[in-house]
Amino acid sequence: MKTLLLKDNEQDILKAAEILKNGGLVGMPTETVYGLGANALNPQAVAKIFKAKGRPMDNPLIVHISCFEDIEKFNLVSEIPDKAKILAENFWPGPITVILKKGSLVPDEVSAGLDTVAIRYPNHKTANKLIKMAELPIAAPSANLSGSPSPTTAQHVINDLNGRIDAVIDGGICDVGLESTVITLAQDPPKLLRPGGITLEMLESVIGKVLVDNAVLNKLEDNAKPASPGMKYKHYSPKANVIILKANDEDFVDFINCNKSEEIAAICYDEDTAKLNVKKYSLGKKEDLEKHAHNLFEILREIDLNKTIKTVYSRCPETKGVGMAVYNRLIRAAGFEVKNLEKS
Ligand code: AMP
Ligand code: MG
Repeated sequence: MKTLLLKDNEQDILKAAEILKNGGLVGMPTETVYGLGANALNPQAVAKIFKAKGRPMDNPLIVHISCFEDIEKFNLVSEIPDKAKILAENFWPGPITVILKKGSLVPDEVSAGLDTVAIRYPNHKTANKLIKMAELPIAAPSANLSGSPSPTTAQHVINDLNGRIDAVIDGGICDVGLESTVITLAQDPPKLLRPGGITLEMLESVIGKVLVDNAVLNKLEDNAKPASPGMKYKHYSPKANVIILKANDEDFVDFINCNKSEEIAAICYDEDTAKLNVKKYSLGKKEDLEKHAHNLFEILREIDLNKTIKTVYSRCPETKGVGMAVYNRLIRAAGFEVKNLEKS
């Protein structure tokens, strides 16, 4: 199959909408990462997403809508709790996915057999236009091959999925750069299943107590069943061995410099770059957590392009604010390997 590279204009978005209506797959920009969209109400179209990505069938998809009313219009859920309305009023359109009890029209392929469905209204004008033009809810996971970092540019999508999908719309670089926050309202108190651009602190400020699923910050036991199936898969892992260094500013730099080698690189902050003698990739200024989120996947992909690097030592993000999302992704890239230099 030839993958069309579409532009971010009316005519091309219409072409993409036709592809979706006909059961095809379209890579679409959103403010989080690029999504791989298909008609969420068509089981055959949804099955193609799993095939193109090599995604395990037990990992459910997020259904994207272009206004709150779409939830009722397409019968996506069986009930809308008040907290869902509050989250929507405060954070939609935006980088947050809400899990609700599933409606009868949502195919099992979308929810991977669960009795819940994940819904998001993205804050991206191209994605919204595409969903409106297709007149459908759009199931879309991240548009990467399963196991590689989520794509934040159309080129990343092409690198992974060229020839496996019908089209991708080039809408430039994604703003947030990390996947959406996922929260389930199928239980009360609600539970954060995946941290993202909408932080735990922001959620609690509008709906009160929110639990944090154990898999967000910790490694699951081998046989444990996570609330969000995606959490059990090894994610975002470059070929080089990533090790998180828990250390103060000075020790981080000293540790890396005394291991100096062509095969070693650092994921660091702007403040570290002049001091490090190895190849380095900066997440941004130390305090700029949004920037860290924005840069992380691009850095992981860049590291994969460098064949010499065997080991990458990374700064250890704090788990406050958006830092929780950065930590959650980085700890998976590191296969949960943390070296603690603070213990002495
Ligand atoms: P992706 O679209 O690749 O960012 O992955 C979507 C994430 O949402 C995965 O981690 C899924 O496991 C999670 N997810 C989707 N639907 C549900 C659901 N019904 N219940 C729990 N987690 C879900
Ligand atoms: Mg993904």
